[in-house]
Amino acid sequence: MDSDYLLLTPGPLSTTPGVRKAMNRDVSTWDSEYNSVVQTIRRRLVELAGNVSDSSAVLMQGSGTFGVEATIGSAVPPDGELLVVSNGAYGARMLTIAKRLGIRSVPAHFDETEPAAPDTIANLLRTHPAVTHVAVVHCETTSGMMNPVEMIGEVVSRAGRSFIVDAMSSFGGIPMSLDSLSADYIISSANKCIQGVPGFSFVVARNAALEATAGRARSLSLDLHGQWQEMETHQGKWRFTSPTHTVLAFAQALDELDAEGGVAARFTRYTDNQSRLVTGMQEIGYQTLLPIALQSPIITSFHDPVPDFQFQQFYDELKERGFVIYPGKVTRSNTFRMGTIGDIHPADIERLLAAVGDVSAKMGFFPNRTSQPTGLGE
Ligand SMILES: *Cc1c(COP(=O)(O)O)cnc(C)c1O
Repeated sequence: MDSDYLLLTPGPLSTTPGVRKAMNRDVSTWDSEYNSVVQTIRRRLVELAGNVSDSSAVLMQGSGTFGVEATIGSAVPPDGELLVVSNGAYGARMLTIAKRLGIRSVPAHFDETEPAAPDTIANLLRTHPAVTHVAVVHCETTSGMMNPVEMIGEVVSRAGRSFIVDAMSSFGGIPMSLDSLSADYIISSANKCIQGVPGFSFVVARNAALEATAGRARSLSLDLHGQWQEMETHQGKWRFTSPTHTVLAFAQALDELDAEGGVAARFTRYTDNQSRLVTGMQEIGYQTLLPIALQSPIITSFHDPVPDFQFQQFYDELKERGFVIYPGKVTRSNTFRMGTIGDIHPADIERLLAAVGDVSAKMGFFPNRTSQPTGLGE
C-alpha cells in the first residue's frame, strides 16, 4: 500500500495520529498499570451509557459481532426466546446468531427502507408470551437507517422483557443511555464512533442482567458473565489474551472524545458532515436511498447514478483521490455508501465532494447538469 486515504467507511474508520501513536508500545497483560487502563475504560464506558447506577462495562475480544454473539448467547436462558427486530443485514445477523446457538427466536421483519415499528413489536410481544428478550439494531449500518430505539425500548420494558441494543455504529456518536433506551444491554465496538482501532467489542449492561447470565453462555470464550467476573475480581484483567495495543489506542480515543466536547459535540460534527455530504451529493445529481427523517448521521446510502454503474471504477477513481467508500448492502436497490464518522471533518467532506464531482464528470454521469463542479479535487 503506497498512499494513505481517508476512510468514509463505518469502521474501521479514519483515526487520529494520537490514537495510532498510543499503540506504539508493548505492555504486559499482567501489569497493574495496564489493568488500571482497562478499569478506566470500563468506568468511562459506563459514564457514556448514562452513568446508570448498578451498571458495568464488559470488554470482549474480537470484532463487534463477537460482542453481539456473546450477549445473545449469554443473556437468553435455555427456556427463553429472543425476538429479533430486523430491517437490514445486522438485524438479520442477530437472527442467524440465535439460530446457530440453538436459541428459539421470533423474527420481526421490516423492509430495509422502513424503520422498525414499535406497535408491531408490541403486538408480537403480546402474541409470543415466551419471548424473554428483544434485540434491535440502533443505526442499521446496512442502509443508514435510525431505528426508533427509545420507543421500542418503552414497548419492551412495558411488556416486562429484557432489551438488547446493537448500538455498534452509534454509541459514542449519538447521545444515549441505558435509561433513555430502557435497555439492559448496549453493545458497541472499539473501531466505531469512539474512533479507536479494531480489536474488541464492549457491552454496557445493568448488573442485575449480568448476574442473571451466570452459567448460561453457550460458548466458553464468548461468556459475558465469565469475562465480567474476571474483570471485576481481578480489576481489569481479561480471561484470555487481550488486545493490548487496541486497548491503549482506545484509552487515547476516549480522551480525545472528551477533548472534542463529548458525545454531544461529536454528534454535531457527524451531523454536519452528513448534511453537507447529502447536500453536496444532491447538487452533483445523486439521490439518497432514505428520506432525511429516517437517516442517521453515521452512514448514507446513495442510489447508483446510472443503471450500469461500475462501482469498482468509481471506487478506484475516488481512492486515487484519497477517499475510500463502501459498496451498497441493501438487497432491493443498487446503492453505494459513504460513512461520515471517524476523524472526518467538514473540510474533508468538501474535498470529497470535489473529488466525486470530478469523477462523476469523468465517468459521464448527470450530463445535463450545468452546476457540476469539476477538477476541484486536484
Ligand atoms: C459494525 C457493525 C457490527 C459488527 O460488525 P463487525 O464486522 O463484527 O465489527 C454490528 N452491528 C452493526 C449495526 C454494525 O454497524
